[in-house]
Amino acid sequence: MRYDLLIIGGGASGLAAAVTAKAFGADRIAVLEKQPRVGKKILATGNGRCNLSHMPVTADDFRGSVDTAPILERFGDVGAFFENLGLYTRTDPAGRMYPYSMNAASVLDAFRMRMREDVTAEFCNTEILSLRCENGLWHARSAETDYTARFVIFAAGGYAAPKLGTDGSAWKLLKKLGIPLIPPSPNLCPVLSDAKLLRPLKGLRVKGEVTLYDKDDAVRTEEGEVQFTEKTLSGICVFNLSGLIDTERFSDYFLLFDPVPDIGNDLENVLYTLQGTRCGMTCEEMLTGLLPKPLIRLILLNARISPDYPCAELSGREIRLLAVAVRSLHFPVRGLAGYEQAQSTRGGVPGTTLDADLQVKGHPGLYVTGEAADVHAYCGGYHLHWCWASGYAAAAAIGKKLYLSG
Ligand SMILES: Cc1cc2nc3c(=O)[nH]c(=O)nc-3n(C[C@H](O)[C@H](O)[C@H](O)COP(=O)(O)OP(=O)(O)OC[C@H]3O[C@@H](n4cnc5c(N)ncnc54)[C@H](O)[C@@H]3O)c2cc1C
Repeated sequence: MRYDLLIIGGGASGLAAAVTAKAFGADRIAVLEKQPRVGKKILATGNGRCNLSHMPVTADDFRGSVDTAPILERFGDVGAFFENLGLYTRTDPAGRMYPYSMNAASVLDAFRMRMREDVTAEFCNTEILSLRCENGLWHARSAETDYTARFVIFAAGGYAAPKLGTDGSAWKLLKKLGIPLIPPSPNLCPVLSDAKLLRPLKGLRVKGEVTLYDKDDAVRTEEGEVQFTEKTLSGICVFNLSGLIDTERFSDYFLLFDPVPDIGNDLENVLYTLQGTRCGMTCEEMLTGLLPKPLIRLILLNARISPDYPCAELSGREIRLLAVAVRSLHFPVRGLAGYEQAQSTRGGVPGTTLDADLQVKGHPGLYVTGEAADVHAYCGGYHLHWCWASGYAAAAAIGKKLYLSG
């Protein structure tokens, strides 16, 4: 079957590319999707609400080797992009942008309704198994069909959330073409630590400040709620730190958790006050007004103070040590939870391999968008913003080429 443009992958960047290519004049467009329906991952984003962008968003919000600045600039106003699809948005005080309905299905519907209007072909249950170029024409083959077009957008995502169709197997199509790929690793996922430390904390959710250390250097501090499971520390603040860990040397890293950052330098005074008001009680009881019990036990263990020790007996030195122990809960990094629990992928097609329109150098007509390109970020709507922007930039460039060549 012959088309102007084939889009491999009906996820965020593929759908953004489909509606944009049509708007720029591409006529026969086919979206080839392995899953029974397009956009499954979009429905899962932002806990079903789809945090579709961030205000503001700049190139500094992205890591990886691709120069995102010109792509973001060309894409421009994300609100206007969605209004053009009939979708209104709202932004919360933290800058996270959502569909006005606060429902991810509205985002997918906006794309699907426009694609229906555009008569864009949607082939689901269609896994592309091979990709090659012959005499300037690209052939994307599924088990049954050979789809051909002058232009292909590779929008098949990365390795994160394999249940939603993205197990990284599509990267083989690029490898077979000899396209270099930066090896993948999970981004935005829970961090593994010692089960012995974590087991007693299982089920706790504690607000605080968590800092990632690389040997003696603090890499980054995040504030938020840390969720403790039997083997991991989780929560958005930990997710954001996970992408900064070099997976070749986990043993160099640790997380330091401070559950009372707002008390700051007053902590010693707070402890003296508690010692006074609970003077007939044990050290564990003294701290129960401040922290959850399982955390208190770990703190006292670290400070080498017995939970049953009478708090009135604590010396000034012991109070000082206790204050340090409260604010520096130490969790060695033992690894990252797998792609099943990750929200995005580090690695992919490097920036040096892509031209300014995200076309693969040496492979005219082939473009790479979304998570398949070496771009990653923190939580907050940045990944989806990159997907819309990259899908837009590649499709606009293709639309213009089709227009110029008649
Ligand atoms: C649970 C969860 C929540 C998230 N929440 C947010 C959020 O709120 N905000 C945010 O910015 N980011 C969020 N993300 C990240 C964001 O969803 C992804 O970065 C983004 O969807 C990636 O889009 P993409 O176009 O690169 O690929 P994907 O959306 O992953 O789509 C790729 C598509 O290609 C298909 N495919 C794969 N191989 C083939 C093949 N061989 N042939 C045909 N089709 C193929 C897949 O089935 C899939 O549908 C979240 C991710 C997860 C997992």
